[in-house]
Amino acid sequence: SKEMGRDTLCVFDGPGNIKISLEIGREEELRRAIENEELFLEYQPRVNMITGQILGLEALVRWRHPKSGIVPPLQFIPLAEETGLILPLGTWVMKTAARQAKAWQDAGLPPVVMAVNVSARQFCDPLFINHVEEALAESGLAAEFLELELTEHTLMGDVTGALNAMNAVKALGVRLSVDDFGTGYANLDVLRNFPMDLLKIDRSFIDALPGDQATKSMAGAVMSLARDLNLTVVAEGVETPEQRDYLRGQGCAEAQGYLYSAPIGAPDIARLLGTAC
Ligand code: C2E
Ligand code: CA
Ligand code: CA
Ligand code: CA
Repeated sequence: SKEMGRDTLCVFDGPGNIKISLEIGREEELRRAIENEELFLEYQPRVNMITGQILGLEALVRWRHPKSGIVPPLQFIPLAEETGLILPLGTWVMKTAARQAKAWQDAGLPPVVMAVNVSARQFCDPLFINHVEEALAESGLAAEFLELELTEHTLMGDVTGALNAMNAVKALGVRLSVDDFGTGYANLDVLRNFPMDLLKIDRSFIDALPGDQATKSMAGAVMSLARDLNLTVVAEGVETPEQRDYLRGQGCAEAQGYLYSAPIGAPDIARLLGTAC
């Protein structure tokens, strides 16, 4: 059949081999990118939807590729996860973000929490906690200003392992959040037992708002689950005033999204924080 032919092609034929060698080429490129500082960070503000005050920043990695230009994270994070390059990449992101947050504080800007995305493979690495300690020690950033974003997927894999790692991180004073909330299969009781500080409601729920009654019920259910857990709730991907008004009406106080600011470079963030002084 056609299906079988495709499988066979992947394993034995020339084109299959070409695909594999392209992937290896890409892996080598990414390895070099980490060493050559081709990666950089943008930051997106998390704001209080009532006052507009900036409460935190999320660091988001980009690749300035010598030939392809700026490559967004969804085009290389999966490869980094498959190959294990997410370990050096993730450590670089955490250290760079911590150093930047401390530099802004030292410049007299109002202190805000710096959130960093942590993938499952990174979080499960036995050396992860050492890298967190190093990031704090090397930057001089107080632990309370560092936040690690984990997904439900990360938390549900090996619950005991995740809980141990989370307790170790919390013992340092670092904050923890659940990213993309509502997209995974997290059991609420389990979530309740995790030492989390904040839940970020996935953009797919916000995207659909205001929408029809069924959609609103879905989004409302996720928000009330989040509130039941007694955690700070943040709406991700707020793009329109209608979404903002609806969420405010539902008692959601914090948001991140293009309505407030896209992810932007460090100099622009410094200006934003500066005008908030
Ligand atoms: P995420 O952690 O859910 O990050 C939010 C993504 O939503 C960002 O995309 C951001 O630019 C985008 N976004 C924010 N507000 C809006 C909005 O109002 N509308 C729309 N349509 N999009 C919005 P980005 O920067 O392309 O990152 C995509 C994903 O890549 C992230 O999703 C995260 O899962 C991953 N990622 C980014 N940086 C890192 C990193 O340093 N480490 C790891 N492990 N993953 C990362
Ligand atoms: Ca995130
Ligand atoms: Ca998210
Ligand atoms: Ca995500």
